[in-house]
Amino acid sequence: MRQNNLSVHSENILPIIKKWLYSEKDIFIRELVSNATDALNKVNILSEQGETEKSDLKISVSIDKKDKTLTISDTGIGMTEEEVEKYIAQIAFSGAEEFALKFQKETEKDPIIGHFGLGFYSAYMVASKVEINTLSYKPNAAPVFWSCDGSSSYSIGKGTLASRGTQITLYLDDLEYLEEARLKELLNRYCSFMPFPIDLNGKPLGNEEPLWNKAPSMCKEEDYLNFYKKLFPLDPDPIFYIHLNVDYPFHLKGILFFPKIHRRFDANESSIQLFCNRVFVSESCKDILPDYLMVLRGAIDSPDIPLNVSRSYLQVDKNVKQLSQHISKKISDKLSQLYKTDKEKYIASWPEIEMIVKLGALQDEKFYDRVKEILIWKNSEDKWTTIPEYLERYPEKKVFYASQETGPILSLYKEKKIEIIKAPSPIDTAVIQFLENKTSATFQRIDGSLDEALLDASKEKNVLDSEGKTESSRIAAFIRSSLNQKEVEVEAKSLSSDEIPAFVVIDENQRRLRDYMILTQGKTGVPFPTKKTFIVNTNSKLIQTIHRLQENRPEIAQEIARGIYDLSILAQREVEPGDLEKTISNQTRILEKLTELISLP
Ligand code: ADP
Repeated sequence: MRQNNLSVHSENILPIIKKWLYSEKDIFIRELVSNATDALNKVNILSEQGETEKSDLKISVSIDKKDKTLTISDTGIGMTEEEVEKYIAQIAFSGAEEFALKFQKETEKDPIIGHFGLGFYSAYMVASKVEINTLSYKPNAAPVFWSCDGSSSYSIGKGTLASRGTQITLYLDDLEYLEEARLKELLNRYCSFMPFPIDLNGKPLGNEEPLWNKAPSMCKEEDYLNFYKKLFPLDPDPIFYIHLNVDYPFHLKGILFFPKIHRRFDANESSIQLFCNRVFVSESCKDILPDYLMVLRGAIDSPDIPLNVSRSYLQVDKNVKQLSQHISKKISDKLSQLYKTDKEKYIASWPEIEMIVKLGALQDEKFYDRVKEILIWKNSEDKWTTIPEYLERYPEKKVFYASQETGPILSLYKEKKIEIIKAPSPIDTAVIQFLENKTSATFQRIDGSLDEALLDASKEKNVLDSEGKTESSRIAAFIRSSLNQKEVEVEAKSLSSDEIPAFVVIDENQRRLRDYMILTQGKTGVPFPTKKTFIVNTNSKLIQTIHRLQENRPEIAQEIARGIYDLSILAQREVEPGDLEKTISNQTRILEKLTELISLP
């Protein structure tokens, strides 16, 4: 047995590794199993040249609770003494040191590691001593034993291993890794798709070839479903999937699913598992996929994603950019294809894909160009349409839309057979604003102005009375004084329908600004006043009655006028927070007065 010094300048490299990697120390298992996998892969290659036997290729993980050791064995190519000196004692160590020095600053503020392939030395995150027993495939190679307790010296000498392969034994500090259940969980997380059989304490892990590695033409629908269930056992079946398989200009395989559940849109929550050559790396694709694709679930495997660099670097990396663009193109292609071939399914899936399409259009110009023909809206006839289709029917390029599925104003338009687009989603205001900039269309929410089409000029109350005033102007004046709200304008108009007593017109621009603030800042508590015009329908019975009452019972006529205003605000979902109680008690008071009146003898 000889005693040798590790070729490393910094004596305290291992404490540094331990400290930095502490948060993700679990990854040691991934690193060691990956090394074993590499060694087995090399057997595959060498056996083709007849240099070694391709027999019994496997990895075994075993726990010895008495000795507090964890051993990872493989039947790979093994190492000669020279190789142990070269690969383990020198190169890896200096590599680790280089890493440690280079990233000292970055790791302090952003714990990037865990993605960092530190390789063999990650064993020291959990172990105080590591031993290697190895026998190279090379003819006449002798078994080698190496041991290092994490200080800067190691021992190397003759080993005992009788057959080709490598055994790495960890003398654990962290006793949690002596629990079989804990190890099983780790192996399942990191090694489920690794290419060689793995067993834990003699029991097979059941790792298998990942579906993304197979040619799409070889995969059946149920294979995708089963795969999804394996990744996300608790989820309902997905709506559809995309099998990615790219060889140029970068390598990428993977399967992405559109999940069925209405997930709250949360860009921080990613459910795409990232693999590098079948090794699980991370659950976070945050910087690899654009925000609008974060709702997707599935797995991506790419050796070209730089895993060992900081986030800010990821965002500017050329490969990552291309990859993200490629995926987004695939997604839009898939959606377009579905729209063309199975519109029914597309429409049925719309609640789930709507957010992706709309956010994608807002955030990514190229994506918008590819989805603009499949961005659909439900109209007042409950049929689906695109905006270009709508504009074909209405060449005046004005698109009427409603933020509510139902309501009195919607009925007015329906009666006039004017098609209304329904846009109830919170991001629709932003989408509409965006479409206005992109197309020649203007959008008008149905309560954003009083459209000519809703008026009936023939019933206009414009006959002048003895004082030179029209009935309309008297009604308007009375209601204006009843409301007594400076910021509310009142107009009396003859609407084509006599069913609706009144509604409120809300300034389109101010309302959009308010919606935008609510969407981006979540502000609902602070009232954001919008300019309002109260339109009263001179053809409505109720307004006519108020007009008659204003002579004899002005106080009750005033209360009813205020009550109608409150109800219109309510019907249009424009009640300021906190005003609902007031509205209800006002309505109750009006009812009280009316019942009192009726019950008078
Ligand atoms: P990396 O795997 O990134 O090269 P490591 O520190 O993990 O760095 O390993 C250094 C080298 O040691 C490997 O490249 C390989 O040559 C050798 N090695 C490590 N583990 C094994 C093993 N189980 N069998 C054979 N060789 C190994």
